[in-house]
Amino acid sequence: MARVATAALAVLGAATLAACGSAPDSMPKVAAAPASCARLATISIAGTRLTLAEPVAAGSIALTGIQPGAPGSTAPVPAHCHVQGKIAERTGIDGKPYAIGFDLRLPVAWNGRFFFQGGGGTDGVLRDAIGVLTGGGNTSNALMQGYAVVFTDTGHLNEPGPNGPYQFGLDPQARADNGYNSMAQTARVAKQLIAAHYGQAPKRSYFVGCSNGGRQAMTMTQRDPEMFDGVIASAPAYRVPLASVQAVYDTQLYARAAAEQAPLADGRPVLAKAFSRSDMQLLTREVLNQCDALDGLKDGIVDNWPACRFNAAALRCKGAKTEACLGPAQVDALEKSFAGVKDAQGRVIYSDWTFDAGLHSAEWTRWKFGDAAQGPANARNLTLMTGGLAMFFTTPPTVTSDFWAYAMGFDPARDTAKVYATGGPFRESAMQMVAAESPDVDAYVRHGGKLLFFHGVSDPVFSVKDTVRYVDALRQRYGGRTDDIARLFTVPNMAHCSGGPATDQYDGLSALVKWVEQGEAPSRIVARARPENPDVRTPGRTRPLCAWPKQPRYNGSGSIEEAANFSCR
Ligand code: CA
Repeated sequence: MARVATAALAVLGAATLAACGSAPDSMPKVAAAPASCARLATISIAGTRLTLAEPVAAGSIALTGIQPGAPGSTAPVPAHCHVQGKIAERTGIDGKPYAIGFDLRLPVAWNGRFFFQGGGGTDGVLRDAIGVLTGGGNTSNALMQGYAVVFTDTGHLNEPGPNGPYQFGLDPQARADNGYNSMAQTARVAKQLIAAHYGQAPKRSYFVGCSNGGRQAMTMTQRDPEMFDGVIASAPAYRVPLASVQAVYDTQLYARAAAEQAPLADGRPVLAKAFSRSDMQLLTREVLNQCDALDGLKDGIVDNWPACRFNAAALRCKGAKTEACLGPAQVDALEKSFAGVKDAQGRVIYSDWTFDAGLHSAEWTRWKFGDAAQGPANARNLTLMTGGLAMFFTTPPTVTSDFWAYAMGFDPARDTAKVYATGGPFRESAMQMVAAESPDVDAYVRHGGKLLFFHGVSDPVFSVKDTVRYVDALRQRYGGRTDDIARLFTVPNMAHCSGGPATDQYDGLSALVKWVEQGEAPSRIVARARPENPDVRTPGRTRPLCAWPKQPRYNGSGSIEEAANFSCR
C-alpha cells in the first residue's frame, strides 16, 4: 500500500480543528460526491493497515456472528463504502498475533456525523458497523440514517472452545485494548478515514452502546473527552469485574436452590432447575401484588420501583413445596442475591438489586439459571461472567474451562481483592483497565458533551441501582448542572438491553442528537411494547420513559395503553 500520508494528514488535522469550532444547527446531507471507495485503500495512516475498501450497493447484508435465518440476522444498508483494517498489529506476551480490528461503513449519502457502535460481552468478534440502535433492534440502524459507522473487535479475536473468548486476558496489552485503548485508536483512525473520504471531518461524533458498549461509551467521556459530543450508555458494564463477583455469588446461591428442587446430576446441582417457569411467574405476580399499585395504577408495571420494599419471605412454603410457594433455599437465594454480595466487613461489593415484574422472562433466567437440563450448566453468569472473571477480570488470571468449579471455589470476601490486584506483567489492575466509574467528566463537560443513560429495571446482569449510583455521583460533583450533562431513563420490566414484558422500543439516538445539536434536553421519551415479544401481553402499549428521578403517572382518564395519558412526575 502506498505511503502518501504526511501531507494528507496535515490537511486532515486542520479540517478536524476547523470542524470543532463550528456549531451547525442543521446538517444537510453532504452534497459533494465522496472520493471513490477504492481510493481509500491508498491512504496511509500511522500504525494502520487497511485490508478492505469496497463499495456495497443498497440492499440487505447478512450479519457476522449471528446464525443465518435467526431474527435480526440481516440488516438493511444504504449504498456505502465498506472499509476494514487493523491497527497496531503485534505479537502478545503469549506469542499470539493481536491487532485492533475495525469495520467502517461510509454511506454515499452522509449526514455529516460519526457513529461509534459499541460492543458487547468481552468483544473479540468483528461485527458489521451498521449502527445498532439501543431500543431499536436491527430494523432501523444509524447507517440507514446516513451516519458513518465504525465498530471494533477491541484488539483480539475470540478463540474456539469454552474459554476461547477469554484467552486474551493472559496478555496485558490485550486487556488494556479491551478496557479502553481500542476505542480511542479506532475512533482516531475512523475520523481520519472519514475526513479522507468525504473531504471533511465529521461535524458531530456519537458513541452508542449497551452493556459493554455502554461501559465503552462512559470510558470515552472519562478518558478521551474530546472524541465524542454525545454518548448513549445503556445498561452500562461500568463496574463489570465487580458485577462478575456478584454473578459468581448468584451461581452459588442458585446452586443451593437447585439442589433443593431437583436431584444432583454427576454430583452437581442442575442449575436450570433452581426455579421452574411457574416459580418465576409466582415471584413476579407477588412483586406486582406488593408493588404495582405504588404508582397509583395496577397495570403490570412497577413505575415506582424505588419505593418497592419487596418481601420475598411472603412466598416461603409453610409446608411442602407447591406451585403456590417457594422452598426455603429459593427464598434465601433471592433475599441474599438481591441484597448484593458482601465483603468480610458486610459491605456490598457491587450493588443491591430491585425486585421487578420482568424477572420471569427468558431474558432474565438465561443469565441466572440457563436451560441445560443435562450436562454442564449454561447460565450466562457461568459461561460469560465467570469465564471473564477467571481469565480477564482477576490478576493473576486463572486459566480454566470448568467455570462451575471456579465459581464454587470463589470466596467473594477473600478473592475480590484479585480484581484490584496487579502483578507480574499486569501493571494495571482489571478495575483500573475496565471500570469506568470516575464521576470526573470535567473535560467532557467543557467540550459540551452529553451523556444519556438507559437501564432496564429487570436487568439481571447490571443493577439499575448501580447506574443510579453513578448518576448520583455526578450530581454530587456537578449539582444543579447535572441535568445539562447527563440524563438517565429507567425502563421498568426490561431485561438486559431489551426484552422482558416491557416497552423496550424507543429512539434514544434522536433524543441525544436533539440535545447535542439543538440544546433540547430529553425529559420524556415515548417507548412502545414490541408486538412480537412473547412476554408482552399488551402489544402496542406505549409509555413515557421519564428522566430520572421522575416517574410516569397515569393522568386518570383515557386509555392506559397510550403514553399520552401519562405524565412524568
Ligand atoms: Ca403500576
